[in-house]
Amino acid sequence: MPRRLKHLELHGYKSFAGKTDFIFGAGVSAIVGPNGSGKSNVVDSIRWVLGEQSYSLLRGKKTEDMIFGGSDLRPRAGMAQVTLTFDNSDAWLPIEFTEVAISRRAYRDGENEYLLNGQRVRLRDLNDLMARVGLSERTYTIIGQGLIDTALSLKPEERRSLFEEAAGIGLYRNKREDALKKLEATQRNLDRVLDILTEIKPRLRSLERQAQRAKDFNQVKNDLDEVLKAWYGYHWHRAVEELDQARLQAEQSAIELFGFQTKQDEHDRAVSGLRAQAAGRRAQIAAWRKEADEIRVVNEVLVRELAVGDERLRSLADQRSALLAELPPLEAQRAEQAGRVEAAQAEVQRLSAEAAEA
Ligand code: ATP
Repeated sequence: MPRRLKHLELHGYKSFAGKTDFIFGAGVSAIVGPNGSGKSNVVDSIRWVLGEQSYSLLRGKKTEDMIFGGSDLRPRAGMAQVTLTFDNSDAWLPIEFTEVAISRRAYRDGENEYLLNGQRVRLRDLNDLMARVGLSERTYTIIGQGLIDTALSLKPEERRSLFEEAAGIGLYRNKREDALKKLEATQRNLDRVLDILTEIKPRLRSLERQAQRAKDFNQVKNDLDEVLKAWYGYHWHRAVEELDQARLQAEQSAIELFGFQTKQDEHDRAVSGLRAQAAGRRAQIAAWRKEADEIRVVNEVLVRELAVGDERLRSLADQRSALLAELPPLEAQRAEQAGRVEAAQAEVQRLSAEAAEA
C-alpha cells in the first residue's frame, strides 16, 4: 500500500479562521485558487505541523503570525491548530497505530504544543519519528513555490543533497557523518594512547617495581585487615560477653535495690509511726507540764493560805490563852454573883412568906 496522507485539518491557522478539513483521496490532489486565496498557507501548515522552527520558511516572523489575525468579519483567533493524519495500516511509521495524527498548537504567548494521536509529546520525539521515515523538518519532501526554479539552478553536488534529503537518506548521511567524527576522535585517542605507551616504556621496569610494591602493599594490607578483623572480632566477642555479664549484674543489682527500697519504705513508715508517737508523747508531756504548773500555782496558794491559817491559829491560841487567863477571876465573880443570887432568892422567899402572912 503506498504511503499517503489522509487528511489535513486547519483551525485558526493563518487565513483559515474556521475549521477546514482537506481530505486527500487516492492519487493526486490539487488545490486551486486565485492569488492570495491561501494555497501557500496550506503548504506552510504542513511544514509547520511537522515541526518546522524557521519562521522565514513559514513566511512569518514569529508564532503569532501563524495564528489567524482577524478580518472585517471575524475577530482574531487565540490559538492555531493543525492536524495532519497519515494512513499507517502498512506500519510505514514505526508506531503501533493504523492511523497517525500529528498535531501542533500555538498560542499568542508564543507557546507551542505537539501531539501524537492526541497525546502531548516533545518536539524532539516528533522530529525523531519524522526523521526515521525521511520527513525531517528540513527535507525537500514539501516543495513550495519557487523551489523548482531554485532546484534547477543548483550545482550538481547541491542538487544531489536535495535529492538525498528528499529520498530520506539525509538522516543516515548525518548519522554516517557523526559516526565518522566519532571514529576520528577514537583514532586520535588511540594515537594518544600509543604516544603514552612509547613515553612510559623506558619507565616500565621502575613502574613494574612500583607495581610489585603496590601489590605487596595490598597483600600486606589485606593480611593486616584479616588480622585486624580477627583482633577486633575477638575483642568484640569479649566486649559482648562483658556487656551480657554487666547486664546480668545490673539486673541483680536492680532486684537488690528494689528489696532495699522496700525495706527503706518499711523503715520510713516505722519512723513515721515513731515520730507520730513521739509527737503524741511530747504533747502529753506538755499537757502534764501545764497541769504541774497549775498544781504548783494551786500549791503555792494553799501554802500561802496554810501559813495564814497557821498564823490565825496561833493568834486564836494566844486569844484562848488570854481568855483562859481571864477565866478564874470571872469564875470567882460568877460564884460571888451566884452567892448573891442565892441570898437574893432567900430574901425573895422570906419576903414572899412575909407577904403571904401579911
Ligand atoms: P499566491 O498564489 O499569490 O502565492 P496564495 O493563494 O498562495 O497566493 P497565500 O500566500 O497562502 O495565498 O495567502 C496569503 C493570504 O493569507 C493573505 O491574504 C494574507 O493576508 C493571509 N494571511 C496570512 N497570514 C495570516 C494571518 N495570520 N491571519 C489572517 N490572514 C493571514
